[in-house]
Amino acid sequence: MENKQIFSGRGLYSRRKFVAHVSYIGIGGLTFSGLSAFASCGLPNNQQAEAQSAEQKAKKKLGIALVGLGGYSSGQLAPALQETQHCYLAGIVTGTPDKVDKWKKKYDIPEKNVYSYENFDSIKDNPNIDIVYVVLPNAMHAEYTIRAAKAGKHVICEKPMAITVDDCDRMIAACKEAGKMLSIGYRLHFEPHNKEMMRLGQEHVFGEILRLKAENGMSSVKGWRLDKELAGGGPLMDVGIYCVQGVRYTTGMEPIAVKAKEGPKTDPDTFKEVEESLTWQLEFPGNIIAECKTSYSEDLNLLRAEARNGWFELSPAYPYRGIKGDTSKGKIDFEQVNQQALQMDDFALAIKENRSTPVPGEMGRQDVKILQAIYKAMETGQRVEII
Ligand code: NAD
Repeated sequence: MENKQIFSGRGLYSRRKFVAHVSYIGIGGLTFSGLSAFASCGLPNNQQAEAQSAEQKAKKKLGIALVGLGGYSSGQLAPALQETQHCYLAGIVTGTPDKVDKWKKKYDIPEKNVYSYENFDSIKDNPNIDIVYVVLPNAMHAEYTIRAAKAGKHVICEKPMAITVDDCDRMIAACKEAGKMLSIGYRLHFEPHNKEMMRLGQEHVFGEILRLKAENGMSSVKGWRLDKELAGGGPLMDVGIYCVQGVRYTTGMEPIAVKAKEGPKTDPDTFKEVEESLTWQLEFPGNIIAECKTSYSEDLNLLRAEARNGWFELSPAYPYRGIKGDTSKGKIDFEQVNQQALQMDDFALAIKENRSTPVPGEMGRQDVKILQAIYKAMETGQRVEII
């Protein structure tokens, strides 16, 4: 059985077919090259964008406004929103006026759907925006989620949900009070290899899990991620959170205690405010230990479980593309999907179908609670119980 492919799947997500939308793509493409057929007929760009917006609405898609147009919004979310079937990129919220024209042209966003951080609250009067997606530095998630909820919008908030559990509570309460849904940008819950880890672990396919290993690290980090006030911490908040998520969804259990140790600072100038690396051991009921590591100076990417009758792992486990899996009985081999498109479509469908999201605010809150316990264990050198 060694190396035989036993876990496979297909057709979980097929790229959106644009054939039926020739007019939309044609207009978008021509607009981008500055040769819009509409423009040549004298229709200004903004009217074109309005027409696109009306077309998307007519297809009953929910409108998403991205708040914060940095690397993740521009590199992943906006492109993914060109592939979604139940939602579309309707608006933008930015503090950088220079970005506005490029985004408006590239994605046919009408002027009335463009907001600054200052006038963001007036989004409440815009029926084209159903969902606000908060893609700002971690410490800003709470404020913008709460403002979005107060404006009567459903919210997707990026990970980590916030930098304190109190903030998470305020975010959940604001969405509840407004009667709006809140989800966290946990894209891997929609990714087939990671879903297979959940199945193998939670259904004890290889028997009871005995131990786990999870590592996630990246090098060459700069900007707000090194600023404790904005990031809430170092690599643990940013990429170590995937390890916490990974061992939680592989076991389907909640950790009860943690021990942690900060790694040495090889570059104390860069890592003045946050840890450079960190190792921690999460203890689950039944004496299951998850050995975890995160770093801003080492590239790491692993999720592995050892069970009574075999092992299963993903390596790399957490990237946008190229996830690979293996087990003691053969490969885990699924189609690579557009994780963000699936994640946003699922949230839009959850809203439409009035059902809960598999990645709610409460899940984000639990991770923040665990991250806080890990930092406490690191700072005190003590075993910290997670209650
Ligand atoms: P980024 O630095 O590329 O972008 C941050 C954006 O916030 C920029 O547009 C910046 O102008 C804006 N901003 C507003 N106020 C700011 C301030 N005071 N300081 C700095 N920037 C400010 O960051 P990013 O990589 O896009 O990350 C944004 C969020 O998305 C983070 O919470 C991050 O954890 C999350 N993220 C998630 C994933 C994922 O796979 N789910 C991937 C990357 C980032």
